[in-house]
Amino acid sequence: MSFDLVIENGLVVDGTGAPGKYASVGVTGTKITAIGDLSAADAKKTIDASGHVVSPGFIDTHAHSDGALLNDGQHAEGVRQGITTEIVGPDGLTYAPLPRAQYLMYRQYLSGLLGLPPEDLDMSSISSALDNYHHKTAPNVAMFLGHGPIRLGAVGMEDVPLRGEVLRQATRTMEESFEQGACGFATGLSYYPNSFSDSEELVQLCKVAARYDKAFSIHTRNHNIDRAYFGGGVEEALEIGRRSGVKVHIEHYRTSAGNAGQVDQIMEPIERAKADGVDVTLELYPYPVGSGHPLSHFPSWFHEGGTEAALRRLADPETKAMLIRELESHDPEILHNYSWTWIASDANRHYEGMSFSDVATERGTSIEQMICEVMLEERFSCGLRGVPPQSARLWRAVEEDVMSLLDRPDYMVGSDAIPVGGLQHPRGWGTFPRVVGRLRRRHGYPVEQVVQRVTQNPARRFGLAERGEIREGFRADICIFDPEMINDLSSFEDPMMHPIGIPHVLVNGQLVVENSECTGIMAGEGIRAV
Ligand SMILES: [Zn+2]
Repeated sequence: MSFDLVIENGLVVDGTGAPGKYASVGVTGTKITAIGDLSAADAKKTIDASGHVVSPGFIDTHAHSDGALLNDGQHAEGVRQGITTEIVGPDGLTYAPLPRAQYLMYRQYLSGLLGLPPEDLDMSSISSALDNYHHKTAPNVAMFLGHGPIRLGAVGMEDVPLRGEVLRQATRTMEESFEQGACGFATGLSYYPNSFSDSEELVQLCKVAARYDKAFSIHTRNHNIDRAYFGGGVEEALEIGRRSGVKVHIEHYRTSAGNAGQVDQIMEPIERAKADGVDVTLELYPYPVGSGHPLSHFPSWFHEGGTEAALRRLADPETKAMLIRELESHDPEILHNYSWTWIASDANRHYEGMSFSDVATERGTSIEQMICEVMLEERFSCGLRGVPPQSARLWRAVEEDVMSLLDRPDYMVGSDAIPVGGLQHPRGWGTFPRVVGRLRRRHGYPVEQVVQRVTQNPARRFGLAERGEIREGFRADICIFDPEMINDLSSFEDPMMHPIGIPHVLVNGQLVVENSECTGIMAGEGIRAV
């Protein structure tokens, strides 16, 4: 037997949850071709994995790296964590399928989250969008079909529910997109145009996803709740599952500072829906606060008409005054607990890492007024993140909940990485080693179980064929890590730090990370889900 690569002496944790076994793994071309005693085999190259776990590469079910991967295919902050496949387009915030003019409009609108990828890309279909990544990125890329592009294609950035002919048109686009390999249907109902929808529209769209056996990934609704079943939230998501038959996947579902320790309470509606026969999975990231863009705090009417119309509203003194009054009427705590993560302009870049209150003080104005000014000056290319709890005990209680949720077989991990800006949320650099290393060790979970949650679970849920397991005939997407050493180094004050304890990462049989350095090999494929 001869192989392109043999990984020797490692503990093979195969992704199924079965106990690890000492074995060698042989790789030929893009695939795993043997597992066992390969001491007599010829190998062009060998890696000694003594003292290390050899696991499937990690699959990130929630990555806002749509734009970042197009600007820098190396994507070190992902592959250095052991991530071999990123699923882009969560929350339905993504670029395809969009014709050129709408791509340019939505690119600017989403730039606070996704950065600014090149203008001259063909995003007119899922197929052409996957081609933009294929062999141009180090990790594999799978794509959700986004509710955002589906609505934009049907009615533009307008506040009307999809019904009749426009609904039929949306349905046809969905069918084409699933046939071209979209791995699920995603929406985020704090975001636009997604939040212009009502529950009935989502049931109709999810019936199409159900016909193609694709999961519906949802960031639950907190905007326009008057048009939602049960006032939005998780109950709306589950009711859409009941009525459409779609497989429901709930994004970033965990406790936070306000309800730490209440795991049973947050799982109660999930268990009720499962008893009704709804197929539900969930995901989380292991940090107590989130990150996003300021647009998700703006009222529904602000977004109508798209980027230029919304920017004109910010430039008009009367409309801006109205906006500020609305922002002030919301829970002020929320806006006061943010800092800027990225700012596009050189003039304002020093705000990165500064709290909103400090920036407002520097400008001699209120926080609400400051947000409106900065958004206009940056044309929405600005992002924010939350401040973690002051109490380390509370923070650790949320982390304990994270691990007890991951103890459930229906959970997986989505980093919710937003890889733009100079002082990002640490989740984009540390999520996977934090779960597989720090938190697994602290709370005493078996490595086999934690690895299963980040490999086989997502591969099966999202139709990523031949991935997510160390198995003969499967793709050689492999992470080699030291189980005692693997750890995140990214923190809120120094977020953009690579983890330790992950010396080698293979994507489709090629080393994209070797001896803890990126190799520059763009081995990733645009994955067409089955
Ligand atoms: Zn997200």
